[in-house]
Amino acid sequence: MRLTIFARLTISFFTIFLIMGTVNAYTVWKLHQVNRETAQIISIDQRILDLKNKLADSILSELAYDKKYIITKDPVFFDQLASAENEFGKHLAEAVSIADTSAKVESLGRVRSHHERYQSLVREEIEQAKRNPLYIKAQYEKEKGKVIDQILEELKVLETSSQQDIYGRMNTLKDAAGSAGTLAILMLAIAFVLVIGTSFVSTRSITKPLAALMDKTKEISKGIFEGEINIPSPPELSELTMAFNVMCYKLKRVDTMKSEFLSTMSHELRTPLASIKEGIGLLQDGVGGAMTEKQKRLLAILSEETHRLIGLVNSLLDVAKMEAGMMRYDFQQESLPPLISKVLMEMGPLIEAKKIRLQTDMEGELPLLSLDRERMLQAIRNLVGNAVKFTPEQGQVKISVCRKGEGIEFSVNDTGFGIPKENLTAIFEKFHQPPVRTSEWGKGTGLGLAFVKYIITAHGGKVWAESEPGQGSTFIFVLPLRPVA
Ligand code: ADP
Repeated sequence: MRLTIFARLTISFFTIFLIMGTVNAYTVWKLHQVNRETAQIISIDQRILDLKNKLADSILSELAYDKKYIITKDPVFFDQLASAENEFGKHLAEAVSIADTSAKVESLGRVRSHHERYQSLVREEIEQAKRNPLYIKAQYEKEKGKVIDQILEELKVLETSSQQDIYGRMNTLKDAAGSAGTLAILMLAIAFVLVIGTSFVSTRSITKPLAALMDKTKEISKGIFEGEINIPSPPELSELTMAFNVMCYKLKRVDTMKSEFLSTMSHELRTPLASIKEGIGLLQDGVGGAMTEKQKRLLAILSEETHRLIGLVNSLLDVAKMEAGMMRYDFQQESLPPLISKVLMEMGPLIEAKKIRLQTDMEGELPLLSLDRERMLQAIRNLVGNAVKFTPEQGQVKISVCRKGEGIEFSVNDTGFGIPKENLTAIFEKFHQPPVRTSEWGKGTGLGLAFVKYIITAHGGKVWAESEPGQGSTFIFVLPLRPVA
């Protein structure tokens, strides 16, 4: 099952949300743990330490009021003794109610029993003092002192136990905070990797087919219709690629139909054009009788136009042949410079008429190449012809041939108006429409550079153009030294 783009995005966002949510939940849980430990310290251990101090104060107050009462027999001191005992009992009860460990409970139990012992000693001494003023006071003093020491000793034990608990809880807090920190960083790192991974996977499945579509669109813009896009993609994009493939197929058919139409038309036109040419020739030879000057001029124009039409029809047929791979080439071992010289000689009058400065650089021995002489002449003629055609009067044309690695490089440079960067590839396509401003140079067929490309490619070479608008253009081709297979 292939997921839709909506489902992919929803799943990846949900995954990211889930990962971030887990990291947050873990941090909140750890914070809660830290809070609980802190609350324990404040509400139990710290409170028990306070109560321990209060218990110690109360027992010492009890001791003081008890002594005062025995000596003075003043009932005020007895009341104060009772109230101190009461205070002690209240603090002890509170401490027992919050004690959270058995050690504390046991310690408080011992405090209670020592206190009860102390209270019974006090009551006993008071009774004795009432009944027999000569009782052995020192005996009670010693006994009570011992019990008080035991209570204070036990309170000390309670203090130590609470402090140890505080210390233990602080350690737990430290560990919890430490492990929470480490784990949070670790989980964040994992979350980061997972988020990047999920985003990558989900976006890649969308961008990959889009990139393929983009590449194919570029190919179509260059006139390459072969091949179809076949990449697993989300349903929405699958539909788009399918529609795109159908469009591509239809474009290819239209292109083939156009080529077939042109070639059929050219064929059909060739015979009547040849007859017209013959007829004009006969008329010019006076077969139809004597002609006025005006009739002769008209026939000359007709002859020229027919010649042009026959040339165009032949070119169209040649293109059709080259496209169909039916063009025959007669490869021979040839040298390139003589072919260039021949073309330059043919164009001499035109170059002179436009007062163009011609510079050639063809010195040095160059190896022979496997060439079809006529086709190569045609390619050179087209390139040099264009350079002369598009260079204004008194401009300059430079031609050079030299060895370049495993090949021979030919280049023709002119001082014309140049070619916009975006057209540098398109001009090699057949019927390329020239920009409006070139119309002043006469109408071309748009087939010249297409021929050059077919011919150079058939020779195993490469051709391209370089140009800076306003600074002229350079057309270069490279032919390999090894013969074409
Ligand atoms: P055409 O017969 O129309 O000249 P080509 O295929 O020879 O056909 O050239 C195609 C187009 O490329 C031309 O119309 C022109 O716009 C451009 N071009 C070719 N050569 C040059 C050049 N040397 N300088 C400027 N533009 C050029």
